[in-house]
Amino acid sequence: MGRTTDNGARLQRLVIDAGFTCPNRDGTLGRGGCTFCDNNAFHPAYSHPEKSIREQLDDGIAFHRARGRKADGYLAYFQSYSNTYGPAGKLRERYGQALAHPAVKGIVIATRPDCVDEEKLDLIASLPGIVILELGIESCYDRTLARVHRGHTFADTERAVRLAAERGIDTRGHLILGLPGETREMLLGACDRINDLPLTGVKLHQLQILKGTPMALEYEKHPEDFLMPDLTAYIELLAEMIGRFRADLRIDRIAAAVPPRFLAVSPWSGVRPDRIRVLLEKKLAEKGNPIPPSPG
Ligand code: SF4
Repeated sequence: MGRTTDNGARLQRLVIDAGFTCPNRDGTLGRGGCTFCDNNAFHPAYSHPEKSIREQLDDGIAFHRARGRKADGYLAYFQSYSNTYGPAGKLRERYGQALAHPAVKGIVIATRPDCVDEEKLDLIASLPGIVILELGIESCYDRTLARVHRGHTFADTERAVRLAAERGIDTRGHLILGLPGETREMLLGACDRINDLPLTGVKLHQLQILKGTPMALEYEKHPEDFLMPDLTAYIELLAEMIGRFRADLRIDRIAAAVPPRFLAVSPWSGVRPDRIRVLLEKKLAEKGNPIPPSPG
């Protein structure tokens, strides 16, 4: 997983599955989930809800050390499902278990915008160390959110980001580039909507359609509804979006790579993140745009 730089320190994220689910899966909003979702595609082998959080962290550290990845410390990355979906007492207990690990310097909490309220945000704001809230915005357009069965609106995102910012929480937004029905112009227009939010950063990646998902079937029937830019067009799109974002907006990620066995459709794959970054930097330099700091 990604690294985050904190005042020069290299912090490795360790993915935690703390046993949460989401309202789009447990029947509260739906049972099928978002049409693009397969959480298994993002699970490293060490992350499993049947293990304690401490065990997942220890195994995650061993996993990265075995691959020669040096780190000055670790961030517990509550990534799987919606990690604020539960009563505040449960959240306090799970986050506390992670923060009690001696090598953990902080926490990243991924969740849906409609799964935070003032009580939970007060709790998150009170946590010690580095605390990042990662909100799954996915799209700035309600038509798209409805089409992918997201179960929330962009107004939910606006509300969640503002409540988090009022509490001084470092809040990043996650966007998928190329959801069905979205054009290049819509994605460029989304930059203005993002700029209006008090976010500290965004995490961007290309749409990857996963095997067995409703979106894979949708693509089979209507491939013309998907932008699917090839790598050159994707880099061009990224560069243009980054040029439109507020200069102070941190760019946390620029691409994603699920293991090939999960992939049904992707306009490109197998390109290393550092290669994508080199291509992006070249394109930004051509356009005269500043190069954002390394993604975390
Ligand atoms: S993407 Fe998140 S909100 Fe959507 S179904 Fe998957 S876990 Fe639930």
